[in-house]
Amino acid sequence: MNVTPIQLEDVHGAHNYHPLPVMVTHGEGAWLSDDEGHRYLDFLAAYSALNFGHRHPALVAAAREQLDRLTLTSRAFHHDQLGPFCAELSALAGKEVVLPMNSGTEAVETALKVARRWGHEVKGIPDGTASVIVMGGNFHGRTISVVSFSDDHVAKAHYGPYTPGFRSVPYGDAEALAAAFDDTTAAVLVEPVQGEAGVILPPPGYLAEVRRLCVAHDALMVADEIQSGLGRTGRTFACDHESVVPDVYVLGKALGGGIVPLSAVVADRDVLGVLTPGSHGSTFGGNPLATAVGREVIRLLETGEPQRRAAALEGTLRAGLEPLVGRGVVGVRVRGLWAGVDLDPALGTGRDLCEALARRGVLAKDTHGSSMRISPPLTIEEQDLAWGLEQLADAVEELAARPPLSRTQSGLA
Ligand SMILES: *Cc1c(COP(=O)(O)O)cnc(C)c1O
Repeated sequence: MNVTPIQLEDVHGAHNYHPLPVMVTHGEGAWLSDDEGHRYLDFLAAYSALNFGHRHPALVAAAREQLDRLTLTSRAFHHDQLGPFCAELSALAGKEVVLPMNSGTEAVETALKVARRWGHEVKGIPDGTASVIVMGGNFHGRTISVVSFSDDHVAKAHYGPYTPGFRSVPYGDAEALAAAFDDTTAAVLVEPVQGEAGVILPPPGYLAEVRRLCVAHDALMVADEIQSGLGRTGRTFACDHESVVPDVYVLGKALGGGIVPLSAVVADRDVLGVLTPGSHGSTFGGNPLATAVGREVIRLLETGEPQRRAAALEGTLRAGLEPLVGRGVVGVRVRGLWAGVDLDPALGTGRDLCEALARRGVLAKDTHGSSMRISPPLTIEEQDLAWGLEQLADAVEELAARPPLSRTQSGLA
């Protein structure tokens, strides 16, 4: 018998993920297909990394053109894509300087290093004592320092000793934040919407209050817009909804157009200027291929079209989700083309729901417990979105109809 790729993965791949038993072989726009020709609507979009869909023609063309010319120099030499990329991303963000990296967590690490250095060199915090205020329920990636201030037990357990210098306050609680500042505070790190936590929206006015408190305490406001930024919420940045401009944007995911890893820290010169040659770097950071794709991503965002689509489709998303509340769903949160859906825990887990959805041709991902996130490509057709939401309603109904005893077992048929 032939060994399948999934079996090989099972035996020879580390088990740090638990994917749905679907093997995707092809993607186009918002649609995927597997090795047996089944089609699936992508309701995850690689956690927003595929905001522009699978193989967007303009992005693929930019990558192709660059592939035929130059892919990597390291930062030891100049290349002709980096300068324009930095200038264009600065302009998009209304900032002065860009520091490109690769993965999101690397960009968060970079922002933390910059914040600590700024805290010492500019704010005058004694060297080695700078602290950063973070939020309960945060997700900023997987490095040791970043999981050090996570409160997700699974993500954090047994990785100690942990990096010190972080203080956590409840997300959305401006009073707790106000009380957490002291002379060592260099920065506040916040997700404008907590994606991994289940698309948790802060109370209205909260981000503006974070902004105000950071100014009052001479601390940097660092907005992790890796998942919330670049069109997902209907605006270029989720902070835009409150007209808040943080000191530092951390970007990733969609910045690489679903083709390459590309992340960035974006800020003004008085902040990023604390870095000097040799004080930070990355072999692949800002490489020609990634920045060529990134430039095309910025061009797409400059048209405002992805943001407008996300805003326009919010209504369709709400219309599909809100009627489910009280009928198997206990909570729904929507911003732009992004939603968190809380299944009634008595009906099953988020995983159960995702498996029922996959059987109906829609791929999505559970977050915590009985919650699920919906984040389709921003390029999705309205009727496809509506169809996917009908499948979701059916899937919830299927779970509700199961006898309670069978609710502990599931799996794709
Ligand atoms: C995904 C994510 C990260 C980590 O990005 P990776 O590319 O997986 O390292 C960090 N912050 C937020 C808000 C994210 O959603």
